[in-house]
Amino acid sequence: MSDPKPAAAPAARDFIRQRIADDVTAGRNGGRVVTRFPPEPNGYLHIGHAKSVCLNFGVAEEFAGGVCFMRFDDTNPSKESMEYVQAILEDVRWLGFDWGEHLTHASDYFQRLYDYAESLIRRGKAYVDSLTPEQIREHRGTLTEPGRESPYRGRSAEESLDLFRRMRAGEFAEGEHVLRARIDMASPNVNMRDPVMYRILRKAHQMTGDAWCIYPMYDYAHCVSDALEGITHSLCTLEFEDHRPLYDWFLDNLDVPCHPQQIEFSRLNLSHTVMSKRILNALVTEGHVEGWDDPRMPTISGLRRRGYTPQSIRDFCARIGVSKSDNNVELAMLESVLREHLDRDAPRALAVLDPVRLVIESYPEDGGEEFEAPNHPARPELGTRRVAFSRELWIERSDFMPEPPRKFFRLAPGREVRLRFAYYVTCTGFSIDPDTGEITEIRCRHDPDSRGGGTPDGRKVKGTLHWVSARHAIEARVRLYETLFTVPDPGSARHEGPLSARLNPESLKVLEGCRLEASLAGAEAGRALQFERQGYFCLDGRLSRPGAPVFNRAVALRDSWAKRQGG
Ligand code: ATP
Ligand code: MG
Repeated sequence: MSDPKPAAAPAARDFIRQRIADDVTAGRNGGRVVTRFPPEPNGYLHIGHAKSVCLNFGVAEEFAGGVCFMRFDDTNPSKESMEYVQAILEDVRWLGFDWGEHLTHASDYFQRLYDYAESLIRRGKAYVDSLTPEQIREHRGTLTEPGRESPYRGRSAEESLDLFRRMRAGEFAEGEHVLRARIDMASPNVNMRDPVMYRILRKAHQMTGDAWCIYPMYDYAHCVSDALEGITHSLCTLEFEDHRPLYDWFLDNLDVPCHPQQIEFSRLNLSHTVMSKRILNALVTEGHVEGWDDPRMPTISGLRRRGYTPQSIRDFCARIGVSKSDNNVELAMLESVLREHLDRDAPRALAVLDPVRLVIESYPEDGGEEFEAPNHPARPELGTRRVAFSRELWIERSDFMPEPPRKFFRLAPGREVRLRFAYYVTCTGFSIDPDTGEITEIRCRHDPDSRGGGTPDGRKVKGTLHWVSARHAIEARVRLYETLFTVPDPGSARHEGPLSARLNPESLKVLEGCRLEASLAGAEAGRALQFERQGYFCLDGRLSRPGAPVFNRAVALRDSWAKRQGG
């Protein structure tokens, strides 16, 4: 075992790291730090899970010799699947974490969990109950009323053992019997009122197939799995605080190799979305979104498709921190972090989302040239690319007004603007479709002495427009996203009616016929670029077809959140 040096313990960023550092310093657990990330494979991971991933794997990375288990809490085959297992592994790996050889499943321990359960029965600490599930619920009592003991609570160890073995052998139907811990039906903590440890479930399991027809409950399987793996710190969210006495009870009453410490922290809530796998699953199955990886979803796979980088998500998790107080975060903050990362790292490109034709009458009809454009204005190491220019360009429809108001600094009759990287042009006229009133063409002349975007006489223009050469442009579909829900707290009980009533009908806007600079034909799926003056966009690997690219807007350029923070 590596020798952990207390002096090398990292400066604690939060109360959990502080506690672990104290344990290491005091030489507890032999100075080892072992954590685990224990998702149930009943859905895709979301940004809340990312917080837990970053905490558990992060702690293991930061402490000398630290280990983090990637463990599936797969005790309920009726809701779990291999698709979810694969997706979870992909997401954790994409976030940049490595479980090495420590990939496990609660189902790996089914036999040992069963053996431990028998030992509890033998010690009189567990019994088989034959009440119906509904009766068990009735007997449980409430927060203010104690529970009532089941008439089967007095069953002898021999009888319970016999029934438990026959449960396992498949002699009974679902719901006929359960195994319960014998603790205290009068406990003020409802979790301690003889919790169910095993139920009969006639379902094949994605890992163990038909080997089992009884499955352990989470509260029992989790603490024992932790102990079997030598977890030192079992980090979970606050709703498990009331389960901690049960976690400890099982471990105190079993001959397990060690007794991990459960520590709770608050779960992340993000505005304008929901963080429950059950609800996210409903959004998918009811067709409100295109799948778990829909770029509007708060899932890791959705964020990846949207253009988020692993670094931006890890950075976000570091900034929100870990504590016990409410962790309600504005979606705008997540977007702000992404924007900051992409501003620094994303290559630039020219793209016209709502194109109108601009004809440079003074430019030779069959002429053309290329301009050297930096891929990033502040990072020369990212290189340059060549952007084709010709007589006919596409510019943004909103960059021209026939009768502009005073503060409009873009193109208008008689006005001069700079075309990014290219020339100064002055508007000489425009055409309108008489039927629709739509502007069909804008005309201008260029100043050949302004090549590259500057003029010898130093005259200034206020506006700089992006453009693409009509002859060279590629055509694309672009998807703009808004929040999935219209209200900041869609899951809150203060709302009436179904959650779907709060879905934002404008959350997806699809633009057809956008024109992009030719270099974007080689864009890489999921890798965001800045479309100058517009925002950050990335190629959608799922929807794009050869010659028919589809781009997602990751985030717009304007950052109202950072402004409000005074940044
Ligand atoms: P859901 O309610 O979405 O089903 P869950 O907690 O049941 O979430 P698990 O698969 O059990 O989902 O979660 C795995 C780990 O991720 C747990 O340790 C859990 O505490 C943590 N986790 C889940 N949601 C959040 C969140 N919003 N913030 C922080 N950690 C979370
Ligand atoms: Mg859970």
